[in-house]
Amino acid sequence: MIAVQDHLNHLLEFRSDDVPVVSLYAVVPVDPKDQAGLRSRVNGLLDELDPLAEDESLSRAARLSIRDDIERLRRAVLEEHWKPHGIGLFSCSARDFYEAVELPREPRDRILVDATPWVRPMTVMRDKAYRACVVVLDRARASFWKYENDALVESNELQDRALRTDDFTGGRWGGRENATHHTVENLAKEHFRRVIDRLEQLFFPDLDHEAQYQSVVEGKPAPEPAYDVLVVAEHGNEASGFLDELPDRLRQKLAGTFTDPALNDRGALKARADMVLEQWERDQERQQFEHVLEVEAMGGFGVTGLRKCLWAASSKAIDTLLLQEQDEAPGVVCDVCGWLGESGDTCPVTGDSLRHTPDIVDEMVQSVLRDSGDVRTLEESVAAEGRTPAAHLRFPLPPEPG
Ligand SMILES: [Zn+2]
Repeated sequence: MIAVQDHLNHLLEFRSDDVPVVSLYAVVPVDPKDQAGLRSRVNGLLDELDPLAEDESLSRAARLSIRDDIERLRRAVLEEHWKPHGIGLFSCSARDFYEAVELPREPRDRILVDATPWVRPMTVMRDKAYRACVVVLDRARASFWKYENDALVESNELQDRALRTDDFTGGRWGGRENATHHTVENLAKEHFRRVIDRLEQLFFPDLDHEAQYQSVVEGKPAPEPAYDVLVVAEHGNEASGFLDELPDRLRQKLAGTFTDPALNDRGALKARADMVLEQWERDQERQQFEHVLEVEAMGGFGVTGLRKCLWAASSKAIDTLLLQEQDEAPGVVCDVCGWLGESGDTCPVTGDSLRHTPDIVDEMVQSVLRDSGDVRTLEESVAAEGRTPAAHLRFPLPPEPG
């Protein structure tokens, strides 16, 4: 399966030159018995386009292209067998363009016709593109799990010397209990330190001084970290004290913790890790959004609201664009200079005539991605009402034209 990101790059490059592109998203059910439902849903969406295919206000080339797109997509849903959980189809027959994208998560069923492929649902799928390391640990063992692309795989295990249970209780006589207790604590501490050493290698491979020296000599690039975030799972309170040992730089990678992981049930382990990571994502989003509000209040590197964000995108100033799914509005685009606006007929920058679009937010998303910016779709409840879209800027905006 080609990564959603690669499809996205391809779609962003596509230029239809005034012929419409049909974009269709549909949920693909997990149960193959529900395939008939998928067919009728897709056909229902395509029925919505019938009036457009007859619309005399469109050029003949546009109408013919839409008609062919409808036919092609009806054929596709009959012949193809897509994997769960969703499919994005893009068709522009007049330009001989067709792309089917298998989606890792369920989109909302939707069809849209515009001069460019409608990509916003795909950017939401792409948000989760981080690699998490899940460490499950007790007093003497640690298993390292790699969580990437919605899959959890055990990568390796670290086993240290542990005292047997009967050693813990110590003897009935003498001061052995106290001594044993110290040994247990020391062994646990040593174990934690070894776990931390391994984590440091995984997260900060370039901190190895010897390797750094070699990389300078041989002119090789510094080694890439294996992970972006860390999740720690502890058995009862056997691993209490581990977090206290974490150095600051690792603590900054920590997304969260949970206790009593089920090691023999990968699905359950993944579900627990998911909860931690989702909460972490929400917190990240909230911080990003609040940061934009702060810098906007100081004047300069942040803007909120559709109008200002459109001008920021037109100025190629957006570093990170924060959206909510419901942010959607019609608008206008200058295909000559890339200016984006809410309304008008001529571009205030170059005087060219403007193209109308049903979703200017999607055009803004495309513009930001083409300029190597980042786009994040916020969960509901993260952003204050009416303050999105919001953008973190690379530089303060020039005054608006006109
Ligand atoms: Zn222009």
